[in-house]
Amino acid sequence: MFKPGDVVKILIPNVVNTGYDYRLTLAADLGTFVRVSVMNRPYVGIVYGVGDSNLPPDKIKNTLEVFPEHLSIADLQWIQRMSTWTLMTPGAVLRLIVNVPDAFSAPRMEQLYVYNPDDKIRMTDARQSVADAFASNNNDAMSASDIQNISHVSAAVVRGMISRGILVPTTARSVETDFSQYQYRDMGNVTLNAEQSVAAAEICTAVDKGGFSAFLLDGITGSGKTQVYFDAAWRAYSRGASVLLMMPEIALTAQFMSRYEQRFGAAPIVWHSNLTAARRREIWRGVLHGDIRMVVGTRSALFLPWQDLGLIVVDEEHDTSYKQEDMGNYHARDMAVLRAKIAGFPIVLASATPSAETLQNVADGKYRRLKLTSRFGGASLPKIETIDLRENRPQQYTLPSDAADAAPRAGYLSPVLCEAVQETLDAGHQVMLFINRRGFAPIVQCKKCGWVAQCPDCSVGMTYHKHLGKLLCHMCGRTMALPDKCPECGDVISYRGAGLEKIEEEVSVKFPSARTALVSSDTIMSRQALERIVHKMENGETDIVIGTQILAKGHHFPNLTLVGVVDADMGLFGTDFRAAEHTFQQLFQVAGRAGRGDAPGRVLLQTYQPTHPVLQAICDGNRDAFMAADMAGRRAAKMPPYGQLIALIIEANKESTLKNFCAALAAAAPKATGVKIMGPIAAQIYQVRNWYRMRFLVAGDARAMLQPVVSHWLGCVRVPANVRVKIDVNPQNFM
Ligand code: ADP
Ligand code: ZN
Ligand code: ZN
Repeated sequence: MFKPGDVVKILIPNVVNTGYDYRLTLAADLGTFVRVSVMNRPYVGIVYGVGDSNLPPDKIKNTLEVFPEHLSIADLQWIQRMSTWTLMTPGAVLRLIVNVPDAFSAPRMEQLYVYNPDDKIRMTDARQSVADAFASNNNDAMSASDIQNISHVSAAVVRGMISRGILVPTTARSVETDFSQYQYRDMGNVTLNAEQSVAAAEICTAVDKGGFSAFLLDGITGSGKTQVYFDAAWRAYSRGASVLLMMPEIALTAQFMSRYEQRFGAAPIVWHSNLTAARRREIWRGVLHGDIRMVVGTRSALFLPWQDLGLIVVDEEHDTSYKQEDMGNYHARDMAVLRAKIAGFPIVLASATPSAETLQNVADGKYRRLKLTSRFGGASLPKIETIDLRENRPQQYTLPSDAADAAPRAGYLSPVLCEAVQETLDAGHQVMLFINRRGFAPIVQCKKCGWVAQCPDCSVGMTYHKHLGKLLCHMCGRTMALPDKCPECGDVISYRGAGLEKIEEEVSVKFPSARTALVSSDTIMSRQALERIVHKMENGETDIVIGTQILAKGHHFPNLTLVGVVDADMGLFGTDFRAAEHTFQQLFQVAGRAGRGDAPGRVLLQTYQPTHPVLQAICDGNRDAFMAADMAGRRAAKMPPYGQLIALIIEANKESTLKNFCAALAAAAPKATGVKIMGPIAAQIYQVRNWYRMRFLVAGDARAMLQPVVSHWLGCVRVPANVRVKIDVNPQNFM
């Protein structure tokens, strides 16, 4: 406890910050939230230690405000350990926690608007996105900036809707929800089967006992992992602890919400990136005050100011979206385990396709494996087969004669797959066609002179998006008009490769009477639009759904009996050592959508490599053998989890600056035993948004302490102003 007048170190949420000294105006603890002025700007920070500057006393400023709320000592240790591990500064870690502007001020007064639909006004896509944004926020009033942020539309769209009277200014401010009245109940309407009961009992015992323990809830798709961790969540919650259920954004489905509500008697409080500022603020404060004790959220929910956490569940623990790469690099699953270890409570990692890292922790006896081996209610696993494209060439198709372009087009659906689709439709069942590529065609080129449409700012090609009617850069989001002829030689433009819009076209010709739906992971696709499609699937209003990986998770369609993977080879030949693992996980998850009801499911993988070990393993359903082989390969190559990697990504807006700085860095490379430094090499994607990129890779064996080596190394060089250095500990992405 510090007294008024004590000089303490205050950490503020700022990348360059390691703590400044201030004099307390009120008593405070370690972790207490305070407001201080830095360069005449107010910041909310926390008391982080005893002051240690040698400034004369009259140069030390007073705190502006000392709040009654605080983080715990365990939280402070977590910030420290996370900083040591990720090489983010403690201030950068704190910024992940204190990320709600004005959380400690009175709610801001802003003009709010409500949505007032009018049938007479034409709904453009942009206007529909705005309508969806309202629907996904309970139709609460929103500020203009919220509307823009959540629906990704321009200010002009919002202004236009205001002037047409479909957005109406409201004087009524949204009232802050009083979460102290918010209580969940166990509705007691779920009876676990034998396997589920065993798993749930083990976790509940760990919850009762307290202290750190880690579980891998390893259950096949459809085995009911959700109900098992709901049991454990209820146990912790009913003991008065807080519970965090983490999942990838795309698994936050309406189906999940309604299952939660059925089990706990009220809708979950959900935390993700598309909330209004007011909602973020009230949830953040609700958690801080202990009024909210259970949240379902994406990776950033880990950084809410939790009080007395008693359980974390990381669902789909293998999912790559847990790795954050923009604002600091961290793996939310690993940081959640760290948090559980430091504060001493159990954590559950759930997956049908656990990551190699987690399986190794099981093998080492650090995590306890709980297995669910059968689908709930006796549904059988689908039969998985390959289609050899070398023998089953997809046939061309021609658009109807009234179409502008009636030349025959290359097909991507083989006769065998088409036959299976037809049989499924005839039986009155549903089909999913999976292709993990957005847009119509990834390559737009001139076959005469070789010209290829490229993003002027990034070293990647532009993808043609038919629905958008434009070329789109998947790196930076830049759009360009589709030229009507080759800009170099004037010849016709052609497309190569297939995206999902192309498959949609082929389906419309080959199955003209089928009702189809397209599901893309474009940002333009709102949660609401996705829910509409899911609804149609559930109600049997869609026969064929064509989608990217956004459909591969969390959905339960009992009448879906055929999954066709259009291009199973797509991920097989990646250059990074996780390519096989990720392809396996993705195809396994997609396959898991089939046959979840009474009718058995069937999965067909189109490939030119039917004997490839990844595809063979999927067909045999032999996950463990596949992962064992993959992990043996990694062990031999000393790749994670058997070795460690840290990537340095160096970016500069001038090539010469980049080269010079990388040369200086290479010259300063430390020599430490057991540590190898590779690079610099040009990054696979050399140019993004007009910045040039090079990479170093630091490798070491499992016991090496790479972080101190890297921070010492970076301490030896001065980083020029127009150079960015990103540190990626245990990188997942090698682009
Ligand atoms: P997983 O997450 O393992 O893929 P789910 O939790 O989605 O599986 O469960 C699959 C289906 O079985 C869901 O519809 C779920 O509600 C149902 N289910 C699972 N366990 C039970 C249970 N004990 N009682 C009733 N329904 C269950
Ligand atoms: Zn040309
Ligand atoms: Zn670009």
